[in-house]
Amino acid sequence: MATGRHRYKFVDGEPRDELKCSICTFVLCDPQQATCCAKRFCKSCLDQMEDKRCPLCREPINCFRDGGINREIMGLKVYCTNSEEGCEWQGTINETNDTSIDTHLNSCPYQLVPCTNECGEKIRRSSLEIHLTDNCLERMVNCQYCNQRGQYQLITSSNHFDECPDLPIQCSNEGCNMTPRRRSQSLHNETCPKAIIPCAYNTVGCKKKMKREEQEKHNEDSITAHVQLTKKQLGK
Ligand SMILES: [Zn+2]
Ligand SMILES: [Zn+2]
Ligand SMILES: [Zn+2]
Ligand SMILES: [Zn+2]
Ligand SMILES: [Zn+2]
Ligand SMILES: [Zn+2]
Ligand SMILES: [Zn+2]
Repeated sequence: MATGRHRYKFVDGEPRDELKCSICTFVLCDPQQATCCAKRFCKSCLDQMEDKRCPLCREPINCFRDGGINREIMGLKVYCTNSEEGCEWQGTINETNDTSIDTHLNSCPYQLVPCTNECGEKIRRSSLEIHLTDNCLERMVNCQYCNQRGQYQLITSSNHFDECPDLPIQCSNEGCNMTPRRRSQSLHNETCPKAIIPCAYNTVGCKKKMKREEQEKHNEDSITAHVQLTKKQLGK
């Protein structure tokens, strides 16, 4: 596999063929010239070759470093590899220079960088801050209900919601639309108008069960029955 590390867009148009690797076809990276046919190859392309024969003339390969060509390549003007994303930087390939593209890419706002929280995402350097505060799955957040602090993925998972004491839960009594917090569920049930309760006169023997809100009407409707039950109880 050829590497082609120098896949750049050149400011002054395509460089001449002598500056390109005969294996990967990109601009040479640490150029080596073969003694057999005078073709040039990247050092890395040669290193990855399995049989050590010239890929063009099949002779046992013998190369020397081409310093002149390398100097020419180092001076080629290139656009930032993020130019299509909007970066207007121009400079050279020269790896030893502060104005080289490698140095620029270490601070280019358009460069994709791995999230510093190690969530696995790659983000444009200029958006990293927003990612870390608003989008990163590994960021720390507070639960919107109980305010507990934790990693976004854990705090918004069912694992937390299954335990969150302040999660609003729909009352399970038929017809009740209230959503008390988990910690107030039993308290709510004690006053929920839709909870099924035994008649307040169950101690004297009324077997009726009804929604709490119906107790009053039931008392009105059953005055006689309740009085009779009470008398019977007292009479014993
Ligand atoms: Zn190459
Ligand atoms: Zn050759
Ligand atoms: Zn850039
Ligand atoms: Zn992240
Ligand atoms: Zn919570
Ligand atoms: Zn309820
Ligand atoms: Zn009753």
